[in-house]
Amino acid sequence: MSLHSFWDKLILIGHFIRARRRRFTNRQQLENWQQKKRQNYLQRQVIKASHYQNISGKPFADYPLMDKSQMMENFTGCNTENIALDTVLPIALAAESSRDFNPQWRGFTLGLSSGTSGKRGVFLVSKQERLRWAGILLAKTLPNQFLWQILKPWQPKLSIAFFLRANSNLYNTLNSSRIDFRFYDLLQLLDQHILHLNQFPPQVLVAPASILQALAKAQKAGALNIHPQRIINVAEVLEAGVARQIEQTFAQKVHQIYQATEGFLAYTCEQGNLHLNETYIHIEKNWLDAEQKRFQPIITDFTRSTQIILRYQLNDILRVADQPCNCGNVETCIVAIEGRSDEIFWLPEKNSQELKPIYPDSLRRCMMLVEPELMEYNIIQRGLNWQVSIKSQADIEICKQSIENNITHLCENFGLIKPQLTFNDWQPEIKGAKRRRLVCENY
Ligand SMILES: [Zn+2]
Repeated sequence: MSLHSFWDKLILIGHFIRARRRRFTNRQQLENWQQKKRQNYLQRQVIKASHYQNISGKPFADYPLMDKSQMMENFTGCNTENIALDTVLPIALAAESSRDFNPQWRGFTLGLSSGTSGKRGVFLVSKQERLRWAGILLAKTLPNQFLWQILKPWQPKLSIAFFLRANSNLYNTLNSSRIDFRFYDLLQLLDQHILHLNQFPPQVLVAPASILQALAKAQKAGALNIHPQRIINVAEVLEAGVARQIEQTFAQKVHQIYQATEGFLAYTCEQGNLHLNETYIHIEKNWLDAEQKRFQPIITDFTRSTQIILRYQLNDILRVADQPCNCGNVETCIVAIEGRSDEIFWLPEKNSQELKPIYPDSLRRCMMLVEPELMEYNIIQRGLNWQVSIKSQADIEICKQSIENNITHLCENFGLIKPQLTFNDWQPEIKGAKRRRLVCENY
């Protein structure tokens, strides 16, 4: 469903302009704004959800933490419309299997979160929320030149190609008389998409990193011939090596949107640095290390009025920047989204036998430095045994030796006991599945 009504467009544009104009000159100003929004959210929205009714009036910090499984268990109590999971889950599941991207229930858009960690989540948004989301997303991610193009009716529509596992009404909200929004289903063959892209070259290309990488390869080989002016990674961790390949091919920086089922969490500024979307989402930091470099976000999303996202814990690991960004934006700058908590591997320290974390970032760097270069890899930790699968055009035995050396070196650096590596044949990934290179099954 695209935007039909004149009023819908007006509402979207209103959100867009407000989001574009709202800038804070210092951190204190942003924090004051957040405090006001938080208070408003508790008094106007949260109070309507039965799960929170007996705590209303208490300070924000007294409200309970929430996560995906608790949210699914208390589904009815966590939304302001008293909608039961049993009512909407079958509709969302049926839509997913029939690839119908328009699941709705009484005007609410339904969606399933991908649940790569094994837990399935249903999200629920009203039309008002969709319009607000679309306005904010466009305002935060599009450079000025595209904004002008959208606003000038005599210019061509802004063309956006969006690669996703499943489309949603949420994304189709972007389609309008000024935006040509094309959805590319990740479950279909990439070759078909390449033909289509050549026919309708996008100005803005949005896709998970693994797809951007495949498109860069096709462009280099001459099969694809597009010249996007903005490239945005979504839904996957953008590794430095992969970013470099894409950037070299398309001669521009790869931007990022960090959009989870739970909300629009971060975006890159004009300088290419990731900022948390703190104007609309209050983010508490659950620190993972003593140096306070890495944290898991606990989010409160003021823009969500149907499903309450309050002190909601995410599994993702974010790393803060050492320096504030000099673009002038006071929203927290993060260096990277490193992955999810089940991408942290654990090994015992040699002396104390105490388990120590190996963050996904260091393991990825370690694999990036393998010589000759790997085309693909994944590692699964099962205790002290690590299952390693690799794909390379070079001599596999030399690659294996290089991996052994790099991991030995990594363990020695951290004073950890080295795991036993078992090498397996490379299995092609399942179509449409999120690329997951690191999985810690147990430790
Ligand atoms: Zn910045």
